[in-house]
Amino acid sequence: MASGYNTDAAMEAQAGAFDVQTLVVVGAGQMGSGIAQVAAQAGLTVILNDISTEYAQRGLAAVAKRLAQSVEKGRIGPEEMEQTLARIRPSASFADAAACDMVIETATENMGIKLQIFRQLDDIAPHRVILATNTSSLPITEIAAATKRPDRVVGMHFMNPVQAMRLVEVIRGLATSDEVCRTVCELARRMGKTPVEVNDFPGFVSNRLLMPMINEAIYCVYEGVATPETIDRVMTLGMNHPMGPLALADFIGLDTCLSVMETLYEGFRDSKYRPCPLLRKYVKAGWLGRKSGRGFYRYDV
Ligand code: NAD
Repeated sequence: MASGYNTDAAMEAQAGAFDVQTLVVVGAGQMGSGIAQVAAQAGLTVILNDISTEYAQRGLAAVAKRLAQSVEKGRIGPEEMEQTLARIRPSASFADAAACDMVIETATENMGIKLQIFRQLDDIAPHRVILATNTSSLPITEIAAATKRPDRVVGMHFMNPVQAMRLVEVIRGLATSDEVCRTVCELARRMGKTPVEVNDFPGFVSNRLLMPMINEAIYCVYEGVATPETIDRVMTLGMNHPMGPLALADFIGLDTCLSVMETLYEGFRDSKYRPCPLLRKYVKAGWLGRKSGRGFYRYDV
């Protein structure tokens, strides 16, 4: 495997980073609303975009709900909540990309959707604007190649829930510049996160390790080895995981889990990554986990 990745220290020595003040977040679902929140809390001006104003506003409402809970728990003051919300503007138009410094795309995990978004953004945003994607597994190099600025396209993979998780996986496509990597790492630090840089291979590091474990847990349900509750108990009590793999799959979204497994399977053409038929069946049934009210467990929505 190529070993062209940079350490944090090596990156510090490289050319200056680009100052990001205005950020467009494309996709106002669970990840987009979280990214908008941490960015606004770090002082950035954020435009939260989705396919309709209603969806974009739903993303903003999710931010407001989480901030209100933080105020109730005394973690932040009411002024911080007000200031944070005032920095986020919901939008259903890509025209905002014409006057921003950076875009983080966090729409549905589907290559066709992402390519279409990147082509549109590439036409609208000035050349200096960095186009990042929060994809869980899709090739950054392929997304970058759909634009006329492959050096300014990068993976910025936040973990779920964004407000709580400390890691950001920064994925360098074949042409991503050092300046862009450095800027994205600095931005992650401003948001209170720790960036790690990895190369562009299917699933990167996080989901190459996590998703096969989740998929194997689903095979255990499929083959009748044990119930979801028992499997999750084995991993929480036996391996000290904070959450069992099936509860985690429901939390991530079973559609996202299936897309990631498909990317691993197609990317490596190795049968060890084949998605479990039960995962496919649940997704076809619309059992997507927490967001749809049913997955391996049931939820109030
Ligand atoms: P989600 O289903 O909660 O939200 C996706 C949002 O994208 C929806 O609101 C949808 O309306 C919007 N969208 C779809 N097409 C769009 C378009 N053309 N323009 C603008 N918005 C559009 O999904 P999510 O869990 O937030 O995941 C989003 C991305 O983040 C995916 O790439 C996923 O792989 C990645 N991700 C997810 C997790 C996780 O745990 N769920 C973790 C890390 C990364």
